[in-house]
Amino acid sequence: MSTTWQVALGVEPDERLLALLRELEEKPVSRLTRHAAPCCAIAEAWFRATARAAVRRFGDEPRWISKRWEWGPTAWPIAWCEAIKEEALDCGALADLAAVAFEEAGREVVRVQLIDEASPEECEQWAVKWAAVPTAPRWIWHGLVYHETVSVRRSEGLRVWDPVSGRWENGKRAKAMLFFPARG
Ligand SMILES: [Zn+2]
Repeated sequence: MSTTWQVALGVEPDERLLALLRELEEKPVSRLTRHAAPCCAIAEAWFRATARAAVRRFGDEPRWISKRWEWGPTAWPIAWCEAIKEEALDCGALADLAAVAFEEAGREVVRVQLIDEASPEECEQWAVKWAAVPTAPRWIWHGLVYHETVSVRRSEGLRVWDPVSGRWENGKRAKAMLFFPARG
């Protein structure tokens, strides 16, 4: 498991990418916070129970998360009790929820931060969507985007689950990645 950003094989680490990796060096993986009150314990207990019920019905893939929550800007920090009421959550919040859901399925989970390449059109479209929440963290840099996923150990090996699309990823667009333990 790497504790620093790793540039993907075959990717030329140009100045633009290196500057962004320096900027993101200390960025922690997104984690929902907890109020010092029962609200968040209740919210998390509800989520874990829902995740366990989904595992019994559909197996370990937490597709229900991307059906329940749309993908959209999140104003951080966000607590458990707030997140579960939202209509939309960003990839960091969705990755935190997906990690918990995989945990409930008994899977070994690793959190992943990555840098993807995106077209100017995609960046423009996403910037407009994100402008609606001015306190949402920056994740778009002229053709490079920050994204969070989870990596899960399954019988066929280590696989990357994209919590936004709700499916397994091949990770081919990633230019750089950083792995974190799911807890702690
Ligand atoms: Zn709360």
